[in-house]
Amino acid sequence: MIVNAFTVDVEDYFQVTAFERQVPRHRWDEYPSRVAENTQRLLRLLERRRVSATFFVLGWVADRFAGLIREIAAAGHEIGCHSYWHRCLHDMTPEEFRTDLRLARDAIERATGSPVVAYRAPSFSITRKTLWAMEILAAEGFRYDSSIFPIYHDRYGSPASTLISLRISRSIGRGASPAGSWFPLRMYATRAAVSSGDSVFGLSCGIVSRIRPKSCASERCLQRF
Ligand SMILES: [Zn+2]
Repeated sequence: MIVNAFTVDVEDYFQVTAFERQVPRHRWDEYPSRVAENTQRLLRLLERRRVSATFFVLGWVADRFAGLIREIAAAGHEIGCHSYWHRCLHDMTPEEFRTDLRLARDAIERATGSPVVAYRAPSFSITRKTLWAMEILAAEGFRYDSSIFPIYHDRYGSPASTLISLRISRSIGRGASPAGSWFPLRMYATRAAVSSGDSVFGLSCGIVSRIRPKSCASERCLQRF
């Protein structure tokens, strides 16, 4: 089991949400890519500092730079999924989300030959309105999520949330361990991961979310946000 505090989204500069009106997705292939070179530079830096990370990879990138994804995995880092087309969840129906998720997961697994169980939504777009995504993630075999950002932002964020672990489970309920800063959150996540048996926790910028397949209950999560 890997618990990393340092995470990276593997995507190109023209794929960010801020550019989606200027750079339509069908034109992505026309732009010079920088993702491989920049990611390799980051890999060298992490190696020098002996830091392990989770890299949330765009499926589109995995399809075109499979060697890069293998390089990240070979360096000992964890590979997660960051969707295929970098579409925010509030712009998609649940079925569109599922289709995009499967496309991305398959592309990443083709590249690495290993299952992907970690997910981060484009622009942290799992919010109060898009919590339905948790049930789909669980049903598709994902074991943890790193998409919830406890801040005010014009496009995302769940400001009412706190630095806690969310357990998406009817049988267990939502466990919570208040933490006042980054450090205790990291400590809690590590401790929980070590002691939790078959459960996996992911560390986001502020929230740790665990997904328990078959018992996910997004309605209950709504009470938290
Ligand atoms: Zn992104």
